[in-house]
Amino acid sequence: MKYFSTRDPDKKQAVSLQEAVIKGLADDGGLFMPERLLPIDPETLDSFSSLKLPEIAAKMLFPYVADSFSIPAFEALCQEVFNFPISWVEIEDNIFSLELFHGPTLAFKDVGARFMARLLAGFTHQEHKNIKVVVATSGDTGSAVAAGFYGMKGTKVYILFPKNKVSRMQQKQLTTWGGNVVALEVDGTFDDCQRHVKALLSDAEMQQNQVLTSANSINIARLLPQMVYFAFAASRLKQQDKPLVFSVPSGNFGNLTAGLMAQLMGIPIHQFVAATNVNDVVPSYLQEGVFTARPSVKTISNAMDVGNPSNFERMLFLFKNIETMRQHLQAYSFSDEQTEEVMKSVFQHCNYLLDPHGAVGYLGLKKYLQQNPPPAIGVFLETAHPAKFAETVKKRLRNKLVIPERLQAFEDKKEQFLSCENNYSQIKKVVLEDENQIVF
Ligand SMILES: *Cc1c(COP(=O)(O)O)cnc(C)c1O
Repeated sequence: MKYFSTRDPDKKQAVSLQEAVIKGLADDGGLFMPERLLPIDPETLDSFSSLKLPEIAAKMLFPYVADSFSIPAFEALCQEVFNFPISWVEIEDNIFSLELFHGPTLAFKDVGARFMARLLAGFTHQEHKNIKVVVATSGDTGSAVAAGFYGMKGTKVYILFPKNKVSRMQQKQLTTWGGNVVALEVDGTFDDCQRHVKALLSDAEMQQNQVLTSANSINIARLLPQMVYFAFAASRLKQQDKPLVFSVPSGNFGNLTAGLMAQLMGIPIHQFVAATNVNDVVPSYLQEGVFTARPSVKTISNAMDVGNPSNFERMLFLFKNIETMRQHLQAYSFSDEQTEEVMKSVFQHCNYLLDPHGAVGYLGLKKYLQQNPPPAIGVFLETAHPAKFAETVKKRLRNKLVIPERLQAFEDKKEQFLSCENNYSQIKKVVLEDENQIVF
């Protein structure tokens, strides 16, 4: 399987999986996609209902990695990546919460980060090269990447986080790893961090004698494994004659893009709903036909505060034009007030605690079903554990929150991080001269 840039529709510049994953971004500035999405034959699809999650992953994803892994090696990799449950809860009749937050850092980003870490480890092992991974974070991404790469031989991770702009619990989850994870506090904004990461990636001096890559969500290695839980959920929740509707709370639209790719592979999904907070670039695009990137607005579902969603380029690539996108995708946006209100009412009526992101997904699902009356099985993605947003959740639902042990565990650990000015050469010096600390 070859990979191509979204900006290369004539497929002139083929790259291998390894190159796509290590580069992250194509030379022409586009995002990598597999050359085709292979339809799953009906027999294999039927078999999914009796297969376990890691087995579905191996079957579904192997064609995309076949040039780099043997079947047994890849099956073992999938066992490691999907070693925590993806579960579902029917909170109302035919309305399911698909809980993607049972991984080490309690957000769905664990899936992509764990997969990418192991792919890279496979490549470096074959090539005997060392890899430095830089990642900018506004909260959840950094900890998922740290957890995914922690203790991995030949790799060192640098997390750039903006000073005083991540929540207390998020900072704990970023700074208490040690080992091969270095946290860098940057005296600037998230956008500054992202700018420094991009500058590092395109700095020729950084690529001498070492491999430098980024683990942000544009990387195809983070997207591929996210197709798996759509297939898994469809295999478990399908019922005769009832179409499946998935509502995806979206920011950078990686999760939704993965769902669309799964659908194109033949996973029986009737409809996708994209649900956003007031950062509504994609819903506006579908309504008005114009894509306008805007500065992001701060909301209580902060992981979706994205004003220029990078995976929109992949969505357009898949759909070819806006008419097709409109046929396959409904998109709605919701305010913080609506989000808070629904968190309260769902807790009261269903005794189920939504996090602010899942709440937006729930709102999108309900709105779609109102406009397109059932019978349908509705599934919304619960992308993070409510305890990650304890401040927000507790304020609305006093004392109803139990903090899971593995989140609490971060509380007791000691924070370790380097403080940097908002200055590229200082950050570069840290990442470049850190050679000796890599453990092999
Ligand atoms: C990152 C994130 C999202 C948004 O996912 P995208 O793939 O960027 O659309 C939603 N919810 C949570 C909790 C997240 O961390």
